[in-house]
Amino acid sequence: HAKELGKNNFQYFSESLNTDSLERLTLESSLRHALERNEFRLFYQPKRSMKSGQITGVEALLRWQHPELGMILPMQFIPVAEENGLIVPIGRWVLRTACQQSVEWQKSGLPPLNMAINLSARQFIDESLLDDIKQALQDTGMSPELLEVEITETMVMRDVETTVDILKELKSMGVRVAIDDFGTGYSSLSTLKQFPVDSIKIDSSFVQDLTRSVEDRGLTEAIIAVGRNLSLNVIAEGVETSEQYEYLKEQACDEFQGFYGNAALPADKLSQLITSLEGNSAEPRE
Ligand code: C2E
Ligand code: MG
Ligand code: MG
Ligand code: MG
Repeated sequence: HAKELGKNNFQYFSESLNTDSLERLTLESSLRHALERNEFRLFYQPKRSMKSGQITGVEALLRWQHPELGMILPMQFIPVAEENGLIVPIGRWVLRTACQQSVEWQKSGLPPLNMAINLSARQFIDESLLDDIKQALQDTGMSPELLEVEITETMVMRDVETTVDILKELKSMGVRVAIDDFGTGYSSLSTLKQFPVDSIKIDSSFVQDLTRSVEDRGLTEAIIAVGRNLSLNVIAEGVETSEQYEYLKEQACDEFQGFYGNAALPADKLSQLITSLEGNSAEPRE
């Protein structure tokens, strides 16, 4: 028996001390210091009206400017931060920074822009979420109507009752809500109807193959129809080509995001873009 245990222990160590877990250890410890070292940045990706091409708002997207590794994308560290709980303080920083930026842009004379932030599952169910949002709005003076939170379809389906309660609270504060990556989860129409949300975002995986896949066209049309029937704003994510854009426009999708319009930009580049577009008849591309 002892021999077996020893063997198992050996296996355990040899499996866990591989490069992956060493990398992960390094990542975790530098992630712990990233906030205090001010290594996080927000980039802002425009959302545009399908019909007019006008920029209706932006989505704040998190970047980690690592001193040695350079720019790290959220996919590489958010799952780790989600697991060890660091996502809560990081998410608070995102919220505050986005609100501050929004107020700063307006002070500098830009027209009011909707500001969307992404919430992680852990943040969404954290008991401090609503207070954090109230506090950030109050401290920065941002008007709640300009703030939107994006939550994923998978997140809202975990506990429908709790989700409805949180969403109602957000609504009563005047904050808007979008369901992100829509179509990748399994929400039924009757469940979706219970959620007081403003927008749904068609996941980029459907948009990607629109011109090649009959199935993806069908699903996209179904999502747009659902949105229309529930009077929701429908936004397509990951629009990269004029073909995708034209198709979605024909289907009366309301807004789009993607490289066909703009990639995510640092704050100063975003405000330059808005300024350069002001007064122009707005085509999605200059
Ligand atoms: P998301 O919220 O669905 O954001 C869309 C992602 O698609 C962004 O990647 C964006 O840069 C990228 N994208 C936009 N247009 C295009 C396009 O035309 N083609 C392609 N291929 N990609 C496009 P990013 O910034 O790497 O973010 C990935 C995910 O990380 C986000 O997905 C979101 O779930 C999460 N995330 C980003 N920022 C935050 C944050 O502050 N907090 C939390 N909790 N999650 C975040
Ligand atoms: Mg998003
Ligand atoms: Mg998305
Ligand atoms: Mg996505």
